[in-house]
Amino acid sequence: MFQNNLEFAKRCDAEDTVADFRNDFHIPKDASGNELIYLCGNSLGLQPKITAQYIQNELKDWATLGVEGHVEGDHPWLPYHEFLAQNMAQLVGAKPNEVVVMNTLTTNLHLMMVSFYQPTKTKFKIIVESDAFPSDKYAVESQLKFHGFDPKEGLLLWKPRKGEELCRFEDLEELMTQEGDSVALIMIGSTNYYSGQSFPLKKITELGHKYGCMVGFDLAHGVGNIQPNLHETGPDFAVWCSYKYLNSGPGSLGGCFVHERHANNTNLKRFTGWWGHNKQTRFNMRHEFDALPGAEGWQLSNPPILSMAAIRASLDTFERAGFENLRKKTVKLTGYLEFLIDAMNDDRINIITPRNPEERGCQLSIQVKQANKEVHTRLTASGVISDWREPDVIRVAPAPLYNSFEDVFRFSEKLKQVLQ
Ligand SMILES: *Cc1c(COP(=O)(O)O)cnc(C)c1O
Repeated sequence: MFQNNLEFAKRCDAEDTVADFRNDFHIPKDASGNELIYLCGNSLGLQPKITAQYIQNELKDWATLGVEGHVEGDHPWLPYHEFLAQNMAQLVGAKPNEVVVMNTLTTNLHLMMVSFYQPTKTKFKIIVESDAFPSDKYAVESQLKFHGFDPKEGLLLWKPRKGEELCRFEDLEELMTQEGDSVALIMIGSTNYYSGQSFPLKKITELGHKYGCMVGFDLAHGVGNIQPNLHETGPDFAVWCSYKYLNSGPGSLGGCFVHERHANNTNLKRFTGWWGHNKQTRFNMRHEFDALPGAEGWQLSNPPILSMAAIRASLDTFERAGFENLRKKTVKLTGYLEFLIDAMNDDRINIITPRNPEERGCQLSIQVKQANKEVHTRLTASGVISDWREPDVIRVAPAPLYNSFEDVFRFSEKLKQVLQ
């Protein structure tokens, strides 16, 4: 049904119901003013044009109201995180009280492990996928050490089979059959940053719970890309960042999910701060900590409002577009990218990412055998912003909010030229 020509790509753009959202973003340009082909939203999402206004409004309130901005203005700062809860919850399929925006991803991962990694002498191991993002791996290893365990013994890897690139669920089942009784936590990236593989979250959660383990997901490459349906899927916690597919700016705040079943569990250990304290009595500066129910109870500090304003701008954009519409576009847009790469008929090229749209988001990881970084350098010089992973993988992620079918077609033409 796809065709390998520019007219076809343009026709798809004309039929695309969310095509206009591209105009709502700043698209980076080259030195001569031509728009670059930006396929790097998996690393840093582009800036919505409304973001500046949202931040300006907070700067204005600060300038005109000073400390009163906490309770006055269009969006008072005291409850500011509450303005994000509904839309953020919708994006991850959670209830608003299960979600909070706070800190950054790795910080939240640690806070969640303080509560949900409670090892005993016999049940202390943690499973991660073998190509887990380095920061996740460091965090998990340091938690093991913090509790007095040797990561060599305590860290178990869910690995692809020899000669394969993707993880098979059966192999996780097998690992649990052997090790399940000694595993305390399964912590998996919902969509792997390297391969682009989206894992079967519900099956993983059920498997972990069957063995009495806690289950957590890192949605860094999932949020705004796939629908993890967190409430229904049922993990104990999840964490994510907002600067990749959520377009909220470099280093912007992360999100955190705590399943409702833990909302009022005051027996869970946690690291606490005043922003997690009962709102009615927070300013009495009482001595005893009184946790807010739900994810809010894990907050530590009063948050950076300017960063939150950028997140609000992004979430409002997602709400206007509708995630279902974006997901529908992704299936077609990434499908088109796959079609064009296959049509190159080049033996050196191998798409690592799963072929089944249900097992991936918008990213394709393209292995170019016997290539070196020179390929990527030339691709960049030709006006394509993508991402290179050693030894030989180019990651490209057409983001449905601002990438077009024409972008994808032009990318395939440039890749062809570079490989000639
Ligand atoms: C991007 C990413 C991170 C980054 O963590 P920060 O704490 O936001 O710097 C961590 N884990 C995964 C899986 C990521 O993709």
